[in-house]
Amino acid sequence: MTKIIITGSKGRMGQALLACAAAHPELQVVAQIDAGDDLAAVIDRGDVVIDFSSHNATPGVAVLCAAHKKAMVIGTTGHSEAGKAQITGLKSQIPIVLASNFSTGVNTLFWLTRKAAEILGPDFDLEVVEMHHRLKKDAPSGTAATLAEILGDVRKLQLKQALRHGREGIVGERTSSEIGMHSVRGGDVVGDHTVIFATNGERVELTHKASSRDTFANGALRAAQWVTKQKPGLYDMQDVLGLK
Ligand code: NAD
Repeated sequence: MTKIIITGSKGRMGQALLACAAAHPELQVVAQIDAGDDLAAVIDRGDVVIDFSSHNATPGVAVLCAAHKKAMVIGTTGHSEAGKAQITGLKSQIPIVLASNFSTGVNTLFWLTRKAAEILGPDFDLEVVEMHHRLKKDAPSGTAATLAEILGDVRKLQLKQALRHGREGIVGERTSSEIGMHSVRGGDVVGDHTVIFATNGERVELTHKASSRDTFANGALRAAQWVTKQKPGLYDMQDVLGLK
């Protein structure tokens, strides 16, 4: 039995996690924490903390997990560089799964994106388009950022220079060393991501569309069971799925 604590339990993902965990007899939710609740008071009840609260809260949750030697699954996105460094700095103390997306389909998209970029080569222009519901707070999505990281890695581009967030005005011709990034917001869209590879005469588009948060929740629950058996370290969903 894996004992789970959920932070951000009243949110969209928190509610999906609670509903999905109820269907797994080998998982037990021992505490639900949202804004204003005291995680320190209950943390010793659990084996692992699953955090889908807010990028503001995650570093503090991670420090508490390290102090109590609890494994962690982190789903929040939109971390600052300082926040991310604070989280990853704990990898020698506890096992942490940090993933911008927990769905098997999106992790397949990550794999396919790397493969396509390798095969198609530098003649193809790269653009990432994502769409999410109107209530999403960060942009671009963490998943889109991971897709850009994969593209930048294959093309050997410095992401800070390469990323082109939207276009407006007389921006000039597109260069071959840029990765376009476009965030669309509206309605109740759970999460759509498309990577476009375009050259003269043809283009390839790889698209994933999530229609239910259960896909992220079930992936995070799978990661929670997996991470409690790991040595301290920083892992992602590709590790959990055995794709590396
Ligand atoms: P949401 O706004 O619906 O829920 C967040 C919840 O966290 C709220 O109930 C809020 O009160 C709570 N919260 C805020 N600060 C807190 C704190 N200090 N301690 C405890 N709880 C706190 O958001 P959401 O749509 O559920 O998304 C949550 C996060 O997960 C976002 O960062 C989002 O981008 C990310 N997300 C990741 C994936 C993935 O697969 N990795 C999928 C969906 C969403």
